[in-house]
Amino acid sequence: MLYHMTNHEEKLAAIILNLKKFNPDFDVEQESLLRKAFEFAQQAHAGQKRLSGEDYIVHSLATAKILSEMHFDPVTVTAGILHDVPEDTEIELEEIKRIFGKEIAGIVRGITKLSKVKYRGMERYAENLRKMFVAMATDIRTVVIKFCDRIHNLQTLQHQPPHKALRIAKESMEIYAPIANRLGLGEVKGKLEDLAFPYVYPQEHAWVKSVTKDMFKHKEKVIDKAKKTLIKSLREENITDVIINSRVKNLYSLYLKLMTHDKNLDRIYDLIAMRIIVKDIKDCYAVLGLVHTLWTPLKGRIKDYIAQPKPNNYQSLHTSVFTDEGEVLEIQIRTQEMHDYAEYGIAAHWQYSEKRAGTLPDSYREWINNLLDWQKEIADSNQYLENLQKVRLDFFRNRIFVFTPKGDVIDLPEDATPIDFAYHIHTDVGNRCSGAIINNNQASLSQPLKSGDIVTIITNDARSWPNPDWLQIVKTTLAREKIKEALRKQHNALSNKLRNKFNRLF
Ligand code: MN
Repeated sequence: MLYHMTNHEEKLAAIILNLKKFNPDFDVEQESLLRKAFEFAQQAHAGQKRLSGEDYIVHSLATAKILSEMHFDPVTVTAGILHDVPEDTEIELEEIKRIFGKEIAGIVRGITKLSKVKYRGMERYAENLRKMFVAMATDIRTVVIKFCDRIHNLQTLQHQPPHKALRIAKESMEIYAPIANRLGLGEVKGKLEDLAFPYVYPQEHAWVKSVTKDMFKHKEKVIDKAKKTLIKSLREENITDVIINSRVKNLYSLYLKLMTHDKNLDRIYDLIAMRIIVKDIKDCYAVLGLVHTLWTPLKGRIKDYIAQPKPNNYQSLHTSVFTDEGEVLEIQIRTQEMHDYAEYGIAAHWQYSEKRAGTLPDSYREWINNLLDWQKEIADSNQYLENLQKVRLDFFRNRIFVFTPKGDVIDLPEDATPIDFAYHIHTDVGNRCSGAIINNNQASLSQPLKSGDIVTIITNDARSWPNPDWLQIVKTTLAREKIKEALRKQHNALSNKLRNKFNRLF
């Protein structure tokens, strides 16, 4: 008998195929749970339609499919299929728990909580951001599903009324994309921005698209030719297991770059980059050497992010060379593992470290917990909102990782100073700090710190209050608030003293 698959079943089959490809131990049990989720969601959403007129289940499956393409694990993908069930149907979470277990029900509950808040101005913005932090600290998979849910909603945004489309697009660009970037989910970040771009900045989007169209075509030809030359040399040098492809720069990040380069397209070298994926680190450097014998490198464009990874743990070798036609070509060289981390961040972390899916790498966990603790300390809600706005600035800036002499890592924004570092260790260390030693050298308290610095803070016990001038120097909200708080206390202590003296006089 011929079995005819519906469109929905075909999509499910594609999801299962992806799961098998990226999760070698994907088993029959997991597959049947996924199928059960599909049938359950299909029934729960029966009769519901999307604005596009399609069955609602199309959205559930699309979200799960994006998750599976991004290398996420079977549990996350299964929860992805169920993500809108408790919110949009009569089915209670308890039933999901009974059928699919505590883990999946927990993730779905998290998503339902996240969707309660909508982006409406600054006040809601802060609330939304806080919910994202809480969700991240509880189970990062919740946020990851939210990202993929959002990607599909952006892909179908043309069906929304314009004011709602704009709100969703803005929220994606201002909240979701930076968080995805911070979590190392490069692919998600690029997708969110590029899908939101035409709605948030329609004219700018049209402009970038039109000025880059011919350039993209031309550069593709340059890459094709260079690729042939390179493959021949690699063969001669016996470097095997190499994948070469090209990466087109995301339109939105290209737009931002054009803005900082006088809108001059000729100054953007990484419009299209050649990407070379090799089997190990040794080959990364061997290929870099080979590339530089074939073509002349541009001065100052060689970057070794393998020896010195970016703050979000990105690793690669970058170089730009003049091809035989005198064209500038950016080349990125990395291992498969580095590539997976760059594109799929957290998902790759689970894949390579065999840690339980849903847990965060320690460096992220600490950072999110710090943000949450710090928010708890601020009781006043107006002040809280104001501070969240500042935290947002800290959050979006690039981060550096600085060490205490004992080897503890302190996560700070770029250009943070030893004073920021001191306040991140302890308020008392901040209030009493009088000097710093950076990598065995005496340094001033205002010297900007770099990733990898080992910093010792010298404290002076005779000192109990911070210097008001530090307010001009520090870069973190935490240090600034702590200094203000100490100065307020100092002020109160002084006026009490004066008052007592005054009272004693009479
Ligand atoms: Mn949804």
